[in-house]
Amino acid sequence: MIKDKNGLIPNSYELKARAENIFYPENENDIEEIFKDYSRKKIVVLGRGNNIILKDDYYGDDFIFVILRDPYGAFDFDGKRVVVQAGADMKQLSIKAMERGLSGLEYFYGIPSSLGGAVFMNAGANEFETSQIVKKVKYFDIDEQKIKEVENKDIGFSYRHSLFQELNCVILEAELQLKERNKDEVWAKMKGIYDERAAKQPLDYPSAGSVFKRPKGYYVGKMIQDLGLKGYTIGGAKISEKHAGFIINYKNATGKDILQLIDFIRHKVKDAYGVWLETEQVII
Ligand SMILES: Cc1cc2nc3c(=O)[nH]c(=O)nc-3n(C[C@H](O)[C@H](O)[C@H](O)COP(=O)(O)OP(=O)(O)OC[C@H]3O[C@@H](n4cnc5c(N)ncnc54)[C@H](O)[C@@H]3O)c2cc1C
Repeated sequence: MIKDKNGLIPNSYELKARAENIFYPENENDIEEIFKDYSRKKIVVLGRGNNIILKDDYYGDDFIFVILRDPYGAFDFDGKRVVVQAGADMKQLSIKAMERGLSGLEYFYGIPSSLGGAVFMNAGANEFETSQIVKKVKYFDIDEQKIKEVENKDIGFSYRHSLFQELNCVILEAELQLKERNKDEVWAKMKGIYDERAAKQPLDYPSAGSVFKRPKGYYVGKMIQDLGLKGYTIGGAKISEKHAGFIINYKNATGKDILQLIDFIRHKVKDAYGVWLETEQVII
């Protein structure tokens, strides 16, 4: 297990935040060991940090960060099934699946994610949600100090929601069910998804994707754009000029800049449309 004392917390906004205690576990034993010793601290479990806002610059000894990335990222294909560890990079996995003529992971060629983050958030886009490919999930219940398994039907998946958001847990691995499909067709779909996103999203700046959940009957990006807020800046955080649903780290932003900008947008949208926006991004 790698322990990083006072290291930077990896995050796609590229916020410069450090934590006194960061652990990169490599196996289940590491996870059990971490929580035996540290269960009384504030625990933050992360994947690849693509959906988080670190509101502080420093997280001291009362916190532990447990980050599941490459050392915990193996996967094993068996026909149309694949068992994937929580830290796996879903983009790499989507390429491996395509090479085997398997369909189901195409959107992860464009949605940056670990397996754990995808399951926790029920990540998705357009007609796709992670829930459609998950058969079962293995997780560590921190309160009971026990490894458990849960089937798809008991995970309470809904729009950007899963049961894991209500538990104190570490997602360890999942079994995914894919479908056979011609490799060229799978690749064409992946490329189409990527190209469409690259045309619409500000991928040349650090961000964490869409800031807000989609309220019923509205498009967040359009609401913000119609209010003339594209390009509005607080500190180093800016509402993207390319896609108003994104906040970008334009110039050395802090988590506080991003949170102030979120607050500003929420009040403007509430005044104009009577809708209170909920964040999709997780504030740490
Ligand atoms: C450019 C860009 C585009 C994006 N587009 C989309 C999109 O189209 N659709 C979409 O749904 N999302 C999108 N996102 C957001 C992000 O890609 C997803 O939410 C992704 O699933 C997050 O995965 P992660 O591993 O980075 O999770 P993290 O950001 O590390 O964590 C997200 C949440 O999951 C929890 N978590 C992560 N791993 C575990 C684990 N092993 N056990 C327990 N809890 C865990 C964390 O505590 C946190 O609450 C986008 C982000 C970017 C930067």
